[in-house]
Order: sequence, then C-alpha cells, then structure tokens
Amino acid sequence: MTEAPGVQSLSGRMVLMSYDVVIIGSGPGGYSAAVRAGQYGLKTAIVEKDAKLGGVCMHVGCVPTKVLLHAAEVWDYFKNSEAQGIHCENPRLDLPLIIERKQRIVDKHAKGIEFLMKKNKVDRVNGYGKITGAGKVEVVSGQGTTTLETRNIIVATGSTARLLPGLEADPERILTNIEILNLRKVPERLAIIGGGAVGVEFASVFHRFGSQVTLLEMLPRLAPVEDEEVSKELRRAFRKTGIRCEPGARVEEIHRTESGVTVSVTLAGGKQEKLEADAVLVAVGRAPRTAGIGLENTRAEIERGFIKIDDHQQTAEPGVYAIGDIVAGTPQLAHVAAREGLVAVAHIAGKPARPVNGDRIPGVTYCEPGIGSVGLTEARAKAEGYQVKIGKFPFLANSKASIEGHTEGFVKVVAEEKYGEILGVHIIGPRAYELIGEAVAAIEAEATVETMMGTIHAHPTLYEAVGEAFNDVYGLAINA
Ligand code: FAD
Repeated sequence: MTEAPGVQSLSGRMVLMSYDVVIIGSGPGGYSAAVRAGQYGLKTAIVEKDAKLGGVCMHVGCVPTKVLLHAAEVWDYFKNSEAQGIHCENPRLDLPLIIERKQRIVDKHAKGIEFLMKKNKVDRVNGYGKITGAGKVEVVSGQGTTTLETRNIIVATGSTARLLPGLEADPERILTNIEILNLRKVPERLAIIGGGAVGVEFASVFHRFGSQVTLLEMLPRLAPVEDEEVSKELRRAFRKTGIRCEPGARVEEIHRTESGVTVSVTLAGGKQEKLEADAVLVAVGRAPRTAGIGLENTRAEIERGFIKIDDHQQTAEPGVYAIGDIVAGTPQLAHVAAREGLVAVAHIAGKPARPVNGDRIPGVTYCEPGIGSVGLTEARAKAEGYQVKIGKFPFLANSKASIEGHTEGFVKVVAEEKYGEILGVHIIGPRAYELIGEAVAAIEAEATVETMMGTIHAHPTLYEAVGEAFNDVYGLAINA
C-alpha cells in the first residue's frame, strides 16, 4: 500500500484523516476528477485496486483497441497498396509484435496518469475501496486495512464485461475484451456475439487481420443506438467486405470443442444453426460495478443496477457522488465518465459547471467505416414532435475521401424545419469519430444550420462533407 501523508497507525489499522474528496476507481472518470480536484486545491485521494491506474479505458478498452484498429488500417493499406500505385511484396502481419506495441503505448500512458496524480498532489492509495459509513472509505490491500475519512466520496468503479450465464472466459477460445487483446494468433474463424460498439470494432479489426468473422446480434440491427440509416449502411459495408452479419439472432449455447467452439444459434428467420469457430468473443454489454462497494451504507439509489444521480452527479446521499459507467442514464463512454467527474468536483468545490447533457455527447463507434454521432436520430426527433428537415452528403462525392480510398458512408444532419436548429448529426465514413467534433461544437454553441452553412470548410478535406450536409438541409449542396 502506498502510504500517503497523514497516516496514523491505530493497533494494526491505519487511519488517514481529513480528505476533502476520496475517489474510488482510477478510470477516465476517477483520474480526471482527481486531477481537477487537485487543481482546485482540494485534499484528494484516489483508491485503485489494480496495480496500474487508468481503468478499463486505458488497459483493456479505448486505448489498446485503437492500437489494434490502427494496425488493421495500416495492414489494409499494405494489402491494397497496388490501388495507390505502390507495389509491396509479401507484407506479413505479426500479431505478437502488434500486441507488444499495444502494451508499450498503454504502459506509457498509464505512467502518465501516475505523473498527473503527483503533479496535482493527489494521494494514491492502493487497495479495494468500500464505503463503510458517512464520510468513511475503508481500503483493503495485502498490507492491511486503512480507513480514509473524507468530506466527499466520488464512486467511479466502472464496469465489467457481461458474460452469458454459465460461461467462463479463457485465454484462447471464449473471449471478452480482455483476452482478445492478448491473442498470439489470429483466429481463422471468429464468432462475435453482440453487434454494439465493442462487437463491431473487433469485427472490423479481426476481419482485416484475416479472420472469417460472423457477427451475431440479438436486436434487428447492428449499432442499435445509432440512426437507422447509419446501421443499415454499416451492415451493407460489412457484408460487402465479407463480414457475415446476423441481426435478430438468438444465441442458445456455446460449447468448447477439441479445436474451438460451437455456437448454437437461432437466426432471424427461425432457422437453427451450429456455428463452428476457433474462438468466440462475447460482447453483450457491460455490467456496472456497484456490488461490494458499500452503497448499502448510504442512501444512494440504484436503478436496474446503475446508480441514480442528480445534475451535479450527486447520489441521494449528500456528499456521495457517482460518475462513469456505473451511472444511470448516460452512455458508457470514457469522455462521458471524464466529464461527469469534472461536474462532480465542480459541485464539491462550489464552482459552476453545466450538467452533462445527453444530447450533446459525441457517440463514437470505431469500426470500418467509422461512426460518429451527436443529438437526436431522425426517428427520435420525429417521435419528440419536431418538424424535421434532413440534409445528407455522401463521401463518394468528397474528393479527400477518394484520395484516401475510403468513400463509404455519408453525413446526415437532422434539423428542425422552422428555425434551422441542429437536432442531430450522424456520420458514417472515414474518420467519422474525428469529424463529429465540428457538429458537437455547433450544437454546444447553439449554432443553426445557417451558421454552419456560412462556416468556411477547407479544401480538400473530409470535413467538407459535414459542411455540405448542412448545405443540403436547404437543398444547396454544391458537390452533389
Ligand atoms: P473504468 O474505466 O471501468 O475504471 C474503473 C476503475 O475502478 C478500474 O481501474 C477498477 O479497477 C477500479 N475499481 C473498481 N472497483 C474498485 C474498488 N472497489 N476499489 C478500488 N478500485 C476499484 N469509450 C470511449 O469513449 N471510446 C472508446 O474508444 C472506447 N472503447 C472501448 C473499447 C472496449 C473494448 C471497451 C470494453 C470499452 C470501451 N470504451 C470506450 C468504454 C470506456 O472504456 C468506459 O466507458 C470507461 O472506461 C469508463 O470509465 P470509468 O471511469 O467509469 O471506469
């Protein structure tokens, strides 16, 4: 256990006194909150049970997956280099080397978080944290038990991969996001259960690495939280590249066999199939880590497993806040966790902070083609009673997309008819997760479609497609 200043030993137990805020969990929510608390001059401790800081995002989520995704993109360029007029003899993919690179990048950035804790005078306390009563967090580690006393607690314990009942992960055949990030060999046949953000991301990566991928999704469409047209485009693009997509599929059983796994599934039309694969990735959502952290010792309310919070991220127990993947009502994304942490700390420090607004959160799905979205889908805008006008622009008509050789997809703007309010923007295509930034800023600044039509977009760029989609709301796109 790291002994932070102010430790008193009381008959084998240690008590640390008088923190302004103790944060349980060091993922993007917890560590961002800790940095901001330090910046505000609050006496802060961060409790982490794992050896390294950074949480799911840093170690088995956002960062390592993007290393694999980037490698898949580079590999794709090598394989298709002839299309660019470059002859490239016998390129070879070396998965162990990619995994090594992934680990170097993760370790470097996890160290960066340690540095940030020191820089902002945040005490790091290693061990398992649990709320034991008003203003008390007990931390258990190999070295004993410590009780931290504090005016405020921020719970940032994150989430874990859900598995199907009776199923246990292993390093080679039954995989979650943890095991798949350390494979030594590309599976020849990979079945993926779950067509949400995690499932489609790994489908894109391993398909390009050479796996024959089958994607099984229970709901009628892939990326089900996205605009319907975006889901359709993704399915079309996946099918075209050879990823087998089975929306509406119900997985009944998974069996380990001598050489791999068998997945028994009922397909959308009712047909039953026993799917043979070398490995299966289970990507059926993430369960919030709310058990065993002492919430029962508070008045915090739980809603379908998630913690209920107010606009300041405070639970029903004054002085106990919750942020990130454990919170009800906001998507499980790293930037959401981080922002919720800042909102909680601002409230603790008595500073102004806008509550997190669900309609201004960028949704990002890192597949090929990528997805970036913000605000209302067309269906939701209509359901909410808006008179909707749509603008759409295909990447096929964007010169930079052609230069890069990625012309799949489109930008879609959902606007309100009378005043041109931007209700939502949905992008599927090259660098969609970067391009969505302009739309998020536009919505945050309450810009209208007209403002965005008057915004000059550099040429040739991918984000010209965003400008053109705004133009198209009034039928005024130049290049389509
Ligand atoms: P977490 O990151 O889950 O961290 C929680 C921390 O709390 C952990 O370190 C854990 O050890 C610690 N902890 C838990 N209980 C205790 C305890 N009792 N005591 C002490 N410590 C404890 N999001 C994006 O925005 N972009 C992406 O590209 C993206 N890609 C992803 C890819 C994958 C494969 C996965 C699985 C997720 C991805 N996400 C992505 C989601 C993102 O990782 C999560 O939304 C984010 O990590 C949530 O942050 P958090 O702070 O709530 O908790």
